[in-house]
Amino acid sequence: MGKVKASEAVVKLFENWGIDHIYGIPGDSINTMVEALRKEESKIKFYTVRHEEVASLAAAAYSKLTGKIGVCLAIGGPGAIHLLNGMYDAKMDHVPMLVLVGHIPARLTGTDYFQEVNTVELFKDVAVYNKDITSAESFPAVVNQAIRTAYQERGVAVLSIPDDIVLGEISDNIPQLSTVFEKKNPGLVQNDLNDAVALINSASNPVILAGVGAKSAKKELRSFAERISAPVAITLPGKGAIADDHPNFVGNIGKIGTKPAYEAMKSADLLIMVGTDYPYAAYLPEGAKCVQIDIDPVKIGKRYSVTVGIVGDASEALSYLTEHTTPVTDRPFLKTCQNKMNTWWKWMAEDQDKKQTPIAPEALMSAISSISEEDTIYSVDVGTSTVWSTRYLKISENQDFIVSAWLGTMGCGLPGAIAAKQAFPDRQAISISGDGAFAMVMQDFATAVYYKMPLICVVLNNRQLSFIKYEQQSAGQLKYAVDFGDIDYAKFAEACGGMGFRVEKYEDLQPALEQAKAADVPVILDVVVDVDAAPLPGKIVMDEAKGYARFTAKSIAENHKLEKMPPMKTVVRRFL
Ligand code: FAD
Repeated sequence: MGKVKASEAVVKLFENWGIDHIYGIPGDSINTMVEALRKEESKIKFYTVRHEEVASLAAAAYSKLTGKIGVCLAIGGPGAIHLLNGMYDAKMDHVPMLVLVGHIPARLTGTDYFQEVNTVELFKDVAVYNKDITSAESFPAVVNQAIRTAYQERGVAVLSIPDDIVLGEISDNIPQLSTVFEKKNPGLVQNDLNDAVALINSASNPVILAGVGAKSAKKELRSFAERISAPVAITLPGKGAIADDHPNFVGNIGKIGTKPAYEAMKSADLLIMVGTDYPYAAYLPEGAKCVQIDIDPVKIGKRYSVTVGIVGDASEALSYLTEHTTPVTDRPFLKTCQNKMNTWWKWMAEDQDKKQTPIAPEALMSAISSISEEDTIYSVDVGTSTVWSTRYLKISENQDFIVSAWLGTMGCGLPGAIAAKQAFPDRQAISISGDGAFAMVMQDFATAVYYKMPLICVVLNNRQLSFIKYEQQSAGQLKYAVDFGDIDYAKFAEACGGMGFRVEKYEDLQPALEQAKAADVPVILDVVVDVDAAPLPGKIVMDEAKGYARFTAKSIAENHKLEKMPPMKTVVRRFL
C-alpha cells in the first residue's frame, strides 16, 4: 500500500465525483490544495477570477444550469468573506455547492494570527455542511460527506482547510472513497394521485402555476396543460418551464407578472402548483382548492392552503396526471385567458415598437431576442433589467433563463454567463444587467476574455439604480441617492481585450447586436437606455396606486423635480 498527500487524494476524489472545474483565487492558506489541483490541471480546470464573489456566483449559476455541484475556492479571511454572497445565492435557490476555503495552520488556531477568521462560525447560517479539516486521514471521507450532503440537501457544503494538515500523507487505498450517491425521488402515493385526478376532473377554472421545479419536466408540463386545457402561469425563475409563445401560457405572476396571469389566478377554482414555493400570497387565488406537486415534503402547504399534496418529482407526477385525467378540449375559461393574453401581447408589442432615442428597454429586449439562438442561455441580473428581461424576452423550451431569484443579488448576470460558457461552450450566453449591477462585478469581464469565452454582456446604461427609484416612488417616497456617473463600458471592454459597442441611438442597436453575435471574443454592449422607462407592474393594485399618488403629492409639496410619468394609457390599462 502506498502513501499519497491528503490534498492529492482529495483532488482525485473530486474527479471521481465528476468535478471538472473550480472558480477561485489562490493564496497562502489554500495553496497546498491549489498545488494538488495544478497537478491534475488537465482534468480539473481552474478559473482564476478577479473577485471571489464572482467565483461563488458562477459556481451557483453552474449548478442552476446543470444540476451538478458548483465548486469555488478562496483563501481564508478576506477571500472566504468575499465568497459569502454567491454562497447565499446557492443556499436560497437550493442548488448544491462545494466551497473550499483556506485556514491558518492548525497549530496556530486561536492565536489571533494574520487573517484568522473563524470560518465555521462565519458560515453557520449559510451552510448545510460546515467543517474544519482536522486530520489528513479523515480529509477524503469528510469531502465525500460534504458533497453528498450538498447534493442531498441542495445547499452549500464548506470545508475550512488548514494548509499544514492537508500536506499530511495518507494511505492511497481508502475504503470510504466511494462516490456512489443515489438520491431517490420520493415515490408517488396512489391515494394522493387519485384525489388530485378527481379534483382536476371536477374543476372548471384550473390554473397551473409552474416554478423552477417544473423546469425538469417541460414536456410533461406542456402535455398536462394541453390535456386539461388549463392556462399556465409561471414564477420568475420558472421562466422557460413552458415556451412564452405556447397558447396556454398566461405569463408570470407577481409584480413583474402579467395582467392575464393575475386575472386567471383571481378567477381560478383550482390552483395546481408544480415545483414552486412562490411566496406572494396576494397574487394567488382566494379560496380555491389546490393540488401541489413538490419533491420536498416540507414545501407542501407552506404558502397556500393545499387540498391535495403530491410529494414527488414533477415529471413523474405530471405524466401520471396527464394519463389519468379526463381530456378537455373546449374550456371557456382557457379561451377567456387566451383572449386576454392576445391583448396583453398586443400591448407588449406596442411597448417594444418604440423606435426612440434614448433607447426603450422594451425595444432593447426585442432586439436581443432577434439575435438569440435556438438554445441561448440568458443570465439575468437584478434590478429593472429583471423586469424587462422577464417580461419582454420571448424564450423557448430549449433556451435557459437564470437569475438570483431568492437572494436577489445584483451582480449575478456576468458570473452566470461565465458559468454558462464553461458548462456549454457551444451555446450562446447573454447576460443582461443594469449599469449598477454590472459595475459590481465588471472586473470579471477580463476573466471571460482571458479564458476565451465569447459571451455577450448587455448593459442597460441609465446611470441610475432605477429599480430602487421605483421602489421609492411606489412607497410614496422621493427619489434619493440612486444616481451615479457614467462609465463607458464599451471602452472598458476594449481595455480588457474584448469588444465593446456604445449604443446611443436606436438605429445603431440592431447592427451592434449583429456584430456582437458574430464576435469570437467577449462583448459588452453598452446601451444608453431611457432613464424614465417605468417598470410598471403587469397589474397595478390599489396599494401601488396609492403609493404613486402619495409620491406625486409629496413631490409637489416639497417642490421636488417631478419625474416623467409613464403614459396614462398604460397606467389605466394595467390598473383597471
Ligand atoms: P423556488 O422557491 O426555488 O421553488 C422551487 C420548488 O420546486 C421548491 O419547492 C423545490 O422543492 C421544488 N422542486 C425542485 N425540483 C423539483 C422536481 N424535480 N419536482 C418537483 N418539485 C421540485 N418571482 C415571481 O414569481 N414574481 C415576481 O414578480 C418576482 N419578482 C422578483 C423581482 C426581483 C428583482 C427578484 C430578484 C426576484 C423576484 N421574484 C419574483 C423571485 C422570487 O423572489 C422567488 O424567488 C420566486 O417567486 C420563487 O420561484 P419558485 O417558486 O419557482 O422557486
